[in-house]
Amino acid sequence: MLIVVLVLMTTTAIRAQVKTVAEYIDQVQAIANRADLKAANDYVDRNHDGILREWIAITEINAPSGHEQPRAKYIESLLRKYHLDDIHYDSAGNLIAARKGTGGGPVIVFDAHMDTVFQPGLQIKVTVRDGKIYAPGIGDDTRNVEALLATIRALNDAKIKTKGDLVFVFTVEEETTFKGVNNYVKENKGKIDQYIALDGGYEGFTYAGIGINWYRHHFIGPGGHTRSRTPPYSATLPLARAIERIYQLVVTTNPSSNLNLGMLGGSEVVNAKAADAWFTVDLRSTSNDVLADLEKQIKTILDEEAVRASMTVKTDVISKSPAASIPGHRDSYLVRMAEAVHRVIGFDPPITNAGSNNSSSALLAGISSISTGAGPCDGSHSLAENCEIEPFYKGIKKVILLEVALAGVE
Ligand SMILES: [Zn+2]
Repeated sequence: MLIVVLVLMTTTAIRAQVKTVAEYIDQVQAIANRADLKAANDYVDRNHDGILREWIAITEINAPSGHEQPRAKYIESLLRKYHLDDIHYDSAGNLIAARKGTGGGPVIVFDAHMDTVFQPGLQIKVTVRDGKIYAPGIGDDTRNVEALLATIRALNDAKIKTKGDLVFVFTVEEETTFKGVNNYVKENKGKIDQYIALDGGYEGFTYAGIGINWYRHHFIGPGGHTRSRTPPYSATLPLARAIERIYQLVVTTNPSSNLNLGMLGGSEVVNAKAADAWFTVDLRSTSNDVLADLEKQIKTILDEEAVRASMTVKTDVISKSPAASIPGHRDSYLVRMAEAVHRVIGFDPPITNAGSNNSSSALLAGISSISTGAGPCDGSHSLAENCEIEPFYKGIKKVILLEVALAGVE
């Protein structure tokens, strides 16, 4: 009985602490009106050229996943000038720096990932024209790496002392395995109050992670020459039948879900039946139940078509990351406060539960987390990637406001 009462009291207390978005807007507006916040914004406006030059310099150091060190060393050399506390690398290779608060406040982590999807040795040359900046990786995620560096300089220049600690984490291997963030979250669980992943994004933010499962399914048959006795057929036959049936499955849009069969292959030559015909499945949903249900239905189709063609099925899991959500998170302190910050900056933010980035790792560990970003960009993961330049400075100011609002200020 006592436990029940205590649990009720605790839940009520937590609810009571979370104010309405309107109340947070008042709070954030008061912070935005402070002279020191205005000074931090002025710093950004006075330093457009320097910020742009540094953004270019970091982008031109290619950093394929697993090969982030040259870029990390360069970022570290900048951090060393900023009077930060405790600049170090963790065992995964993440670069970490803390800007300690005056005490009694929360620990707020801001991350941006250093790695890119481009092949080692690619020579990257940034070009600027018509108000846009072009280069592979310029947006994803270099814009947010640069945004964090610019916010640290702006806070220092304006002599802003937050109550809580701001911890800046420049992560490795976001684009492949989430090794960097997973390691950081594992080593710091219990010490993080809020986790902000800066990745993509500008006007809006996400508060949950979409689940993504990738498979390569194979039909394995006897193969043989074109002129060998038929049946048995080429393994492409059950493959074609299965693909046709999988695309007839109902994929719900609520919760948001997607299904794509993007790659396939069979025999290496024209005059042989495929002994191994394969195709890939990219399955996504904000609901793990939907993922599990679709997987079950796909498996049934594969098994039935294999039996029908007297063949077998082999499945390779390419990667799996579950949907990440915290019950009630949409109405949590962090999400409401983040909405208030976006509104005070002048955005009407799209708020979605379908992020796919480092934020998921924090959420899976039960840490309140969102993902957002500092500027509008296009063509991520392509050689034609580009960003608009002017809005980026507003995006940096948004990140400054988010940092100060969350860490608190005297
Ligand atoms: Zn990214």
